[in-house]
Amino acid sequence: MLIILVGLPSVGKSTFSKKLSKELYFKGIDNIVLGTDIIRECFPVWDSKYEKYIVDTTYQLINNALKEFYVIVDDTNYYNSKRRDLINIANKNNKDYVIIYLTAPLNVLIERNKKRGEKIPKDLIISMSNKFDEPGKKYSWDKPDIVVNTEEDIDFSKIIDIIVKKDKKCKKLDSKSMEEKSKDIAYKRENSSPTNKILLDKIDKITREIIGEYIKKGIIPKDKNNIKIFLELRKKYLKSLNLKDIYIEKNFKKREYLNKIEKEFILFLNNKLKDLEDDYGKKWSKRSGIKGE
Ligand code: ADP
Ligand code: MG
Repeated sequence: MLIILVGLPSVGKSTFSKKLSKELYFKGIDNIVLGTDIIRECFPVWDSKYEKYIVDTTYQLINNALKEFYVIVDDTNYYNSKRRDLINIANKNNKDYVIIYLTAPLNVLIERNKKRGEKIPKDLIISMSNKFDEPGKKYSWDKPDIVVNTEEDIDFSKIIDIIVKKDKKCKKLDSKSMEEKSKDIAYKRENSSPTNKILLDKIDKITREIIGEYIKKGIIPKDKNNIKIFLELRKKYLKSLNLKDIYIEKNFKKREYLNKIEKEFILFLNNKLKDLEDDYGKKWSKRSGIKGE
């Protein structure tokens, strides 16, 4: 499947591409974002004489990638001739395509362009906007499947639905295996970052050791039911940790965090023990020498 983006500079194509790419991946769809900028930026300076090479090479990359992945083309694709070239590449590979047209008012584009340092002169954006060959205006093959106003919230699941529906190959896939794959990836999304995995393992170990120590010391009486209660409590505690948020924090210090977890878990256990003590009279009273009190 070839996903052709169309839009003026600063409309948000690269931002949109990255997000769409991730969302497709989380749905179990392997994909890659390609565009002429990738090759263009390999040159020390911009010169019009490099442009033919840049475009040809990008087309070759797209052609190869299309054999294996969904390809998102992050380019202005300003002329319908460029869109035609891309569609030809899709046809040659017997793949479907969708055209996604990204829009925003000209003043918004100029403002966004200014904010990122005006690498593209304002006047060029204005003249491009005036001469813009809007997709679908001249030819029906060029009609956008999706129009995205980048000033509004973007509904990626709706966009992905439209893309997948257009994909012949996808229709052949049995929906159950797609669902399984998607579930698997959703699980990975939650747990795959190495930091999270290591953290989870460490927290798992720390909390297990604390429970073990409590049992050994007789703070938690060695009785099958009691042990079960505390193992359940441990699970509940682990669930209550919001690891996703922790991982996102910038200056996250693992050691400090784990120390905090250790103290917090001991406190959590001690409070539970206190509750149980109240419930069961003084049965749970052997609580001297507990760490963290
Ligand atoms: P393009 O690739 O179309 O030139 P970018 O994705 O690089 O555009 O975005 C241009 C600027 O606009 C960037 O500074 C980006 O942060 C900002 N931007 C992108 N998408 C949005 C959006 N939906 N809303 C607000 N600002 C955006
Ligand atoms: Mg861009």
